[in-house]
Amino acid sequence: MSTLITNIGELVTNVPEASSADGGRGRDKGSGGGEDGSATSRADTRAAAGRFAALTSAALVMDRGLIVWTGEAAHAPAADERVDAEGRAVLPGFVDSHAHLVFAGERGAEFAARMAGLPYTAGGIRSTVAATRAASDASLAANLRKLAAEMLSQGITTFECKSGYGLTVADEARSVALAAQVTPEVTYLGAHVVPPEYESDPGGYVDLASGPMLAACAPHARWVDVFCERGAFDADQARAILAAGRAAGLEPRVHANQLGEGPGVQVAVEAGAASADHCTFLSDADVDTLAASGTVATLLPGVEFSTRQRYPDARRLLDAGVRVAIATDCNPGSCFTSSMPFCIALAVRDMHMTTQEAVWSATAGGARALRRDDVGHLGTGARADLIMLDAPSHAYLAYRPGVPQVASVWQGGSLVAGRAW
Ligand SMILES: [Zn+2]
Repeated sequence: MSTLITNIGELVTNVPEASSADGGRGRDKGSGGGEDGSATSRADTRAAAGRFAALTSAALVMDRGLIVWTGEAAHAPAADERVDAEGRAVLPGFVDSHAHLVFAGERGAEFAARMAGLPYTAGGIRSTVAATRAASDASLAANLRKLAAEMLSQGITTFECKSGYGLTVADEARSVALAAQVTPEVTYLGAHVVPPEYESDPGGYVDLASGPMLAACAPHARWVDVFCERGAFDADQARAILAAGRAAGLEPRVHANQLGEGPGVQVAVEAGAASADHCTFLSDADVDTLAASGTVATLLPGVEFSTRQRYPDARRLLDAGVRVAIATDCNPGSCFTSSMPFCIALAVRDMHMTTQEAVWSATAGGARALRRDDVGHLGTGARADLIMLDAPSHAYLAYRPGVPQVASVWQGGSLVAGRAW
C-alpha cells in the first residue's frame, strides 16, 4: 500500500536541489517503485553530494518500504493512503552511528557525584563490566530492547550498537549476538578497556581480543572498534586489533582523541575506518588527515555535556571540509542520553554548527559513518525511514531544546511510533 504525506511545511531530503533538473517538481516520477526491493542500488546518488537540502510546501510518496516520489505538494500523485502534515516538518529518521546499549546496571550516583565536583575515578566502567557479566541474557536483552524502543520513539530509525562491557570471550560473544537481534549495525568492541584480570598483562588481552574473542564475535558483527587512547589501547595495539578484525571480515571504526591528543585519528584513517569518533582533541595534522580521507569525524556532544569536558571544535572540522556526523554515544557512564534532538541542540548551541549542518550530521552524516546510502536522506529509492515533527521546521530541534517534538516515526514505510494518522 502506498502512502502520500502532503502539506509538509518543510521536507528535509538531503538531496540538493541544484542537481535536481526539474527543481523538485515531479522529481523522479516513475523511476521509483522499489520493485526489486534493492534500496541500496536504487538510492538517489544525488544524496552523495553531502549537503542539507529541503523542499517547502512539499509532499512525498512511499511504497513498499521505499521513497518513490518527492516534490511540490501541488504536483503529488495519488496514493492508497493520504496523510495531511498540516504544515509540519518531515525529516529523514535519525541515524545514530555510535551507541553502547548492551550493559547492565546504572551509574546515576557516579554522575551526581561528578556534577557535585567530586573527581572522576576509573572505577566506573569496571562497575558496568561487573554488572554486565553478572546479568542474565534475558535482563541484558530487556534493557537493550527498552533503549532501542526509546531511541525509535525519539526518531532514531537506524542505530549502531557496540559490545564492550563483557570483555570475556563468552560475554562479548553474547553481547554482539544480542545486539544483532535489534540492529544490523553491530560493532565488536572487545578492545574497549583492558579488564582488571589482565591489568598486568595488557598484551595478553590484545592477543585475546584479536584472537579467540574476535573469532567468537565476528559472525554476529559488521564492525570492529577500538578505544585508542592513553589508558586504553596504544597505536600499535589498536592497529593489531583493527587488522585482525579486517582479516575476519569486519570494517574498522575507532574511538579516537577523546581525552587528549594522540594517535587515534591517524590510526583510524590509516586503517580505512568508516569513522573516527569523539575527535575532541585534534592537531592540525589530524584535521588535514581527516579532510583528505574518506573517514567521517563523528562528534558526540552529549559526552562533553555529561562530563563537563570541552566540546570538539566542529567549525574547525567543517571549515576544513571534513565530513561530520553527530551521534548519541548512549552509554551508562559518560553519556546516558538516547535523544538525538538533544545532541542536535548541543551541536548548534555549544559547537556552533548551523541547524542545517547539525541535522545533516545526525541523518546523512550518521549514514556516511555507517557506510549506508539507503538511509539518512529521502531521495527516491531511499528506505522510507522518516519522522514528522510537531513543528514547522528542522530548526525547532535546537530552538526548543528538551521538548518532545517527534510526533510520528515511520520505518520502512510503516508507522512505528508516535501519533497515528
Ligand atoms: Zn563510545
